[in-house]
Amino acid sequence: MDIQGLSHEELDALRRKQALLWLPAGHDPADDGRDLPLDPAEAHARFDRCAGLLARVFPELRDAGGRLSSPLTPIPGLQRRLSPAGEPGALADGTWFLKRDDALPVAGSVKARGGFHEALALAERLALEAGLLNARDDRVLLAQPEARAWLGRHSVSVGSTGNLGLAIGLIGIGLGFQAVVHMSADAKAWKKDRLRGRGITVVEHAGDYAAAVAAGRDAALADPLAHFVDDERSEDLFLGYTTAARELVDQLQAAGRPVDAGHPLFVYLPCGVGGAPGGIAYGLKRLLGPHVHCFFAEPTASPCMLVQLAAGTHTPVSVHAVGLDNRTEADGLAVGEASPLVAPLMARLLAGVFTVEDDTLFRDAYALEQADDIAIEPSAAAGLRGPRWLLGSARGRRYLQRHNLTPLAEQATHVIWSTGGSLVPEDIRAQFRARGQALAAA
Ligand SMILES: *Cc1c(COP(=O)(O)O)cnc(C)c1O
Repeated sequence: MDIQGLSHEELDALRRKQALLWLPAGHDPADDGRDLPLDPAEAHARFDRCAGLLARVFPELRDAGGRLSSPLTPIPGLQRRLSPAGEPGALADGTWFLKRDDALPVAGSVKARGGFHEALALAERLALEAGLLNARDDRVLLAQPEARAWLGRHSVSVGSTGNLGLAIGLIGIGLGFQAVVHMSADAKAWKKDRLRGRGITVVEHAGDYAAAVAAGRDAALADPLAHFVDDERSEDLFLGYTTAARELVDQLQAAGRPVDAGHPLFVYLPCGVGGAPGGIAYGLKRLLGPHVHCFFAEPTASPCMLVQLAAGTHTPVSVHAVGLDNRTEADGLAVGEASPLVAPLMARLLAGVFTVEDDTLFRDAYALEQADDIAIEPSAAAGLRGPRWLLGSARGRRYLQRHNLTPLAEQATHVIWSTGGSLVPEDIRAQFRARGQALAAA
């Protein structure tokens, strides 16, 4: 099939699973999306009023007063290794940071942001409906035995092979819900074990992942006490992700990195269905307008957001339509069709998408561990090539030129979003590392 936003060469490269940088024609960095209806303030307010509750029920959040946040760290070692600076034509490489959502408490991945927000919204709603809570009450009341007993009659469920299941499961159980994760029977055994080991119910389904999600959704719809977390359409998940933007802006300020007309910010976000990176990009554009430029990173086998945006967002398009198989080791990103909630928003706000081969994910994750002593999972390494694409490729440099950013390269800040890894069991981590090491030696 033809895709209007892709040249023949691009479509060809995409089909052959060659890594590429795609820039949507007509993107306007000045479009900040502030006219769009979803409002991050709603999620900020929820996190504020629930902080006491979270500090009470999650020991990992006690020291932080119930505030969810992750470190922003410089990565000078990786910057030295992956920077194109010094190569012919490359621009100054600015300053690189890693946003450590792999280290988010409780869930160990970016899914904590959306997952906490959705689970809190549900708990508040159920408690208000049951008269266990009044609108103005401190949410810490939800930690009391009667409230927990009431929530415990309800379940949160999700279809997931990975981090979303872990996040919803652990957060759900922590708040007192029952938690159910639907998986395909052939999902990796260590993932099922990990969930079950934490008291989460795993329901296995014949067929593939999509079939498991569909079965999970049907089961929840048939049960009035069940709430299904819909990764493709949930506004509550999306709003939870948007709050990362304020956190990043505060951290950049504290690190002495201004973001303004003379100091652009470039952010690189691994994308699966689009909810997590989309929510973060949405929040950032609203706060920083034309001074922030957001790029998504997708596996070469699963560039679902790229394909959807290039095709226009009127009808859903899957990666299978361009002959790709959606088979990748980056399980956090193995999604064949982009979120219909998020794709239209990104059609306005996203500067571009680049794709990454699986081998590169393992190689770069290994390089990061060697250079800066930070261990992340392969999916979370997808953004690491972002600055290289922007500063070291002809296309990336054209983007900078078009928006008069070339003279500002030296003053620019690059934030690579790391999205998961701290809950990967040590033996699996050793396998990831061994593959990266073998590739580095080859
Ligand atoms: C889920 C996930 C993402 C992407 O989030 P989406 O909302 O699916 O786009 C990226 N990295 C990791 C590790 C994830 O688990």
